[in-house]
Amino acid sequence: MKLPENIQVIERGWLSANNIVLHARGEAVVIDSGYVVHAPQTLALLEHALAGKRLARLLNTHCHSDHMGGNAAIQRKFRCRTSIPEGEAPLIDRWDERELILSAADQRAERFVYDDTFAGGDTLEMGEYEWQVLAAPGHDTHAVMFYSPQTRVLISGDALWENGFGAVFGQLFGRDTALAETRETLERVAALDCEIVIPGHGQPFGNVGAALARAFSRLKGYEEDVTRLARHVVKVLFPPTSLGCRSSPNSTRATCGWRHRR
Ligand SMILES: [Zn+2]
Repeated sequence: MKLPENIQVIERGWLSANNIVLHARGEAVVIDSGYVVHAPQTLALLEHALAGKRLARLLNTHCHSDHMGGNAAIQRKFRCRTSIPEGEAPLIDRWDERELILSAADQRAERFVYDDTFAGGDTLEMGEYEWQVLAAPGHDTHAVMFYSPQTRVLISGDALWENGFGAVFGQLFGRDTALAETRETLERVAALDCEIVIPGHGQPFGNVGAALARAFSRLKGYEEDVTRLARHVVKVLFPPTSLGCRSSPNSTRATCGWRHRR
């Protein structure tokens, strides 16, 4: 499994999402900006990756704090255009800390503005390739994935990891279609001729069929007994190590439920 050279993944530690840099001649695009407290590191890593190229555009797979927390810092430094999924726009406009799962997860993000939006069904030119925007509701109602048929690479955000997917909070908090949407999203991935997945957290992986089988199996468990999902969400939002620790920079909670090996 080898990514094309002009697709670069900067894998980040707890709790920042990966930064994915799509290079073209003279300029580049970055997808997701990490968590706010890692912004200085994000800027340094990005500057190194760009090696003098212009950063033309910043996009987010979805607007949880571990994916958009560094947006404002990147905008200040690189003066790039910023694009977010259409459905996230009202939440960003009013900076809805509840809907953005900032307050529940005891997390922060620096407020930012965006230039434009995109939605499932759009095609975007990013780096050297065309990318299809695919709706990916479930973990986040408004999330998207990006798929390049030419390279057969999928940028999945938290819709599919090598071992599972981002916690489906919505099913427990007033959106009882969230598990059904998660299934639709996984089926959307299964219908692609995808060779490599670049997840929001962890290394890029091949053997997409096996990852999907694990994800479907986990989903089936939740569908059969939603208390399993409830227990998982409680673990994500209130891990034992977070007790007595309310400060966001040291928070052990991840909006998506990803647990980084530390
Ligand atoms: Zn995430």
